[in-house]
Amino acid sequence: MAAHAGETAQETGDYFCAYCDEKVHAERGEQIPECPNGHRSFDTRRNEPGSAR
Ligand SMILES: [Zn+2]
Repeated sequence: MAAHAGETAQETGDYFCAYCDEKVHAERGEQIPECPNGHRSFDTRRNEPGSAR
């Protein structure tokens, strides 16, 4: 499921940039921040310790 910077996070979790795999974290109901490298599209992933990519 894709998400974009500035959107409200649908769930608490980590968001991985679709372009450079940088990770940002957003809490449910918060705005998703931009990737530190300026990208704005993310793949959403929950915090799942131990889950491999
Ligand atoms: Zn990026």
